Amino acid sequence: MEQNELIRRTISLCPECLQNIPAEVIWEKNTNRVMMKKTCAEHGDFEDRLSSNPEEYMWRGKYIDEIGSIEGNITAPTNDFIRENELGCPYNCGLCNQHISAPNIAIVDLTNRCNLRCPVCFANSAASGYIYEPTFEELRQIFTHFRSIKPIGPVSLQLSGGEPTLRNDLFDIIRMGRDIGFVHIMLTTNGIKLAKSVEYCRQLKEAGVDAVYLSFDGTEPETWKKMRGVDLSKIKMKVLDNCREAGLDGVGLIPTLVRGVNDHEIGNVLDVAKEYQDIVSAVIFQPVSLTGRISIEDLNQMRYTTSDLKDAINKYSGGLIKKFYPIATASKLTRLLPWFDNEQQFGTTSHDDCGFATFCIVDRETKEWKPLENFVDVDGLLKFTNETFDVVMKRKIPKPTKIFKINTSKLPKIFQKIAEFTDDMTDLAYRGAMKSYYMAGAVKFFKGDLNFIIKNKDTFFNFIKLMWAPGLGRVKDFMLSGNIMISCMHFQDSYNFDLDRVKRCLVHYGVIDPDDPNKVLQIPFCSYNTLHREKIERKLAKRKEERTTEQIDQEVKILVEQLGKN
Ligand code: SF4
Ligand code: SF4
Repeated sequence: MEQNELIRRTISLCPECLQNIPAEVIWEKNTNRVMMKKTCAEHGDFEDRLSSNPEEYMWRGKYIDEIGSIEGNITAPTNDFIRENELGCPYNCGLCNQHISAPNIAIVDLTNRCNLRCPVCFANSAASGYIYEPTFEELRQIFTHFRSIKPIGPVSLQLSGGEPTLRNDLFDIIRMGRDIGFVHIMLTTNGIKLAKSVEYCRQLKEAGVDAVYLSFDGTEPETWKKMRGVDLSKIKMKVLDNCREAGLDGVGLIPTLVRGVNDHEIGNVLDVAKEYQDIVSAVIFQPVSLTGRISIEDLNQMRYTTSDLKDAINKYSGGLIKKFYPIATASKLTRLLPWFDNEQQFGTTSHDDCGFATFCIVDRETKEWKPLENFVDVDGLLKFTNETFDVVMKRKIPKPTKIFKINTSKLPKIFQKIAEFTDDMTDLAYRGAMKSYYMAGAVKFFKGDLNFIIKNKDTFFNFIKLMWAPGLGRVKDFMLSGNIMISCMHFQDSYNFDLDRVKRCLVHYGVIDPDDPNKVLQIPFCSYNTLHREKIERKLAKRKEERTTEQIDQEVKILVEQLGKN
């Protein structure tokens, strides 16, 4: 029998006692799978499947290194509030000095109340028995904390829950997020409120929502009953129609995937994205996180990995997508393009096991999916981008005041202003020169069928506009002109928990520190949900959930029946 191959060593958790234990990631040759194997001295052996496609797993690890997206791309926050890591990772979250990546997304739960009771959800009051709901002023404190992060703060704010639309002050919260400086505001929702009223969708848009993250597990009634307890198939389509009527675009369809329950619906969800391509800009698949004690057989049966998803997408599309890029692939691009115009940067430096993203263009005439690689030499463009970023980082032009060793503080005020202005102009000229160099160099990576480009000229114009004048608004324009981002984030649980991954997490929860309400805790998503959520929310909860699960189920049933009649 062929020898197993050790891919890497890491630290994971014991699913029983949640203590750190060493783990090995191995290529198991007899099953041809990538497995995580670990042993807890007290609770025994555990193993979990990370991938069903070892070749692809190995490729993505090497790819990031080959194109040079991570090297020299340092984003770790440096603020005074960063803690010493005294307890060890992941017990010291909040954030600690071992954390490697800046947050791209600040995620804040507005409440844990919900108007559904989904079997796949662990973050609601019905499941926990208490109500957690930060006040408006506490939210201001959390938002302000995130915007103060240096050197690179999160540009996106994700309002989540529970169900955030249950807050009566939601529009004010959205406006506050915008005022405090977030450039992209995302709302996670089950869509019930949006299905009820076009006017509500309009108000969300007016308040400043840029993206609606709509849970969307499939199109079949049976799928909804299993995943969410009730049939929401028609309600979800109503949400899309209402968003379309209200002009609320930037919708992301978010399927939670459970093997054997809705993994057969992947093509159906992509078809809906295509049908609503004027408002849907992304499909973000999320394989379910497994909680509770389960047998190895059940774990093996239920686990859905990114490799399974990639196979399913290619089965649906006829092998269309050759490469599913790890999220970190674009981590220098997302810094370089905003740098040219002195806009806010973000660096997508997550671990390559955390997920992937790829763009597909939907042909306006034939409605066929076409991968971006047909029109752009992606590898070439990325390598060139990364090299340009390295040049910019290493050879930043010195400011004239530095060259001539001028101590500006000793100058009269008027000369201080002139010195500052001269420095700024030099910096702007340098950025402008590098932008021209980059744009001229990037042109050679475009390729493809001229007829297709002419037919889909909006897509290409928006791509060029995005390159020339980057910013999240341009990304949205690009995505809404016939492009759909197909991506996946594989959240961790105690079975596959991996410190290599969580230390590079770029989705950070914000909560008030229950032990010192003047402080905000900033906790990486997978660490928060696996380890910290319950303890922290219980301390912060101001009241108990008085309703029984039966009462909640009854309320949900009545609500869904009413919606079905409209
Ligand atoms: S996950 Fe990040 S913040 Fe939390 S303990 Fe580990 S390194 Fe520190
Ligand atoms: S949320 Fe989890 S899966 Fe996503 S980047 Fe963070 S650690 Fe990775």
